[in-house]
Amino acid sequence: MRPEELLHSTPQGLYSPAGDFFIDPTRPVARALITHGHSDHARAGHGAVMATRRTLDIMAIRYGEGFAGTTQAAAYGERLEVNGVGITFHPAGHILGSAQIALDRQGCTIVASGDYKPGADPTAEPFEPVPCHVFISEATFGLPVFRHPDPAQETAKLTASLALFPERAHLVGAYALGKAQRVMALLRAAGHERPILIHGAMERLTDYYRSEGIALGAVHLARDAAPAELAGAVVICPPGAMTDLWSRRFPDPVTAFASGWMRIRARQNGVELPLIISDHADWDDLQASILATGCEELWVTHGQEDALVHWAGLAGLRARPLHMVGYGEEEAETTAAPDTAAPDTAAPDTAAPDTPAPESPETQP
Ligand SMILES: [Zn+2]
Repeated sequence: MRPEELLHSTPQGLYSPAGDFFIDPTRPVARALITHGHSDHARAGHGAVMATRRTLDIMAIRYGEGFAGTTQAAAYGERLEVNGVGITFHPAGHILGSAQIALDRQGCTIVASGDYKPGADPTAEPFEPVPCHVFISEATFGLPVFRHPDPAQETAKLTASLALFPERAHLVGAYALGKAQRVMALLRAAGHERPILIHGAMERLTDYYRSEGIALGAVHLARDAAPAELAGAVVICPPGAMTDLWSRRFPDPVTAFASGWMRIRARQNGVELPLIISDHADWDDLQASILATGCEELWVTHGQEDALVHWAGLAGLRARPLHMVGYGEEEAETTAAPDTAAPDTAAPDTAAPDTPAPESPETQP
């Protein structure tokens, strides 16, 4: 079977003509396989959804229980079949529950990796290379300038700043799903023992990580904290909250931002403490991960496609860009529940010196 008969790109996402299903479609479809819970990959409104149990749980948290007509949980390593196409989910190491999806039929195997990273992360199931004929990769950080440092070394910048400025709150911008919880775990690994304060938009996802056995230590809502608790505290919030009214309750905070983009964008965002912590493969990781699959062919979905395709050609692989749109915007998620939607927000917010402002979710345009 030619690979394109098993899977090819369409304006709605990757589509399998043989299996009649999409992977991470950008618009509602009859049958969707979902790699992970970030909103650019997992959307509400599909007829039937197959994903890992954790991704299904995360979608239910973000969109409500009725986010799809029917759902089917796929365990890692378990081979399922849809219309004669074999389907196996494998860990992608990106966020909790994230998966690469391997399709096989008549001797042809294609792996759609979604977003992935091979580096260590106690908050995600470890990435595993899956042997295949065609590997489909993103290329968010597919340029030689992107070489992510050791996340422990980046975390040490934060703990050093806490020691230097014990009277100042440290406001850390991080995406509500995945990055926020990873920063918490990194802080715990670095020996930070104080309660970590969070924005309300992160509460349910953080609770979910903890309920799945991810150790994050004491985590409290920032809005419930007394002013004295804010001194020297780490406060994690969605990037959009760092500049809105919500952040004014923290006098003279140190502003930090945890993202792979901090390699190049720290100054333009006015961040005092850029933390290069990424949940995506960097330039070296991309190459090593692709070669580890033993694939003959590489398809690149989005990001720095041309550079990765060029590298693959030099490495002896057939490679082509898919020019897919609608991905790579997990940084602009609009789906996290606003703090004001929680039932307890009717109570007076005694920690805030100003009137309680609606805490914006990740609503960056
Ligand atoms: Zn993602």
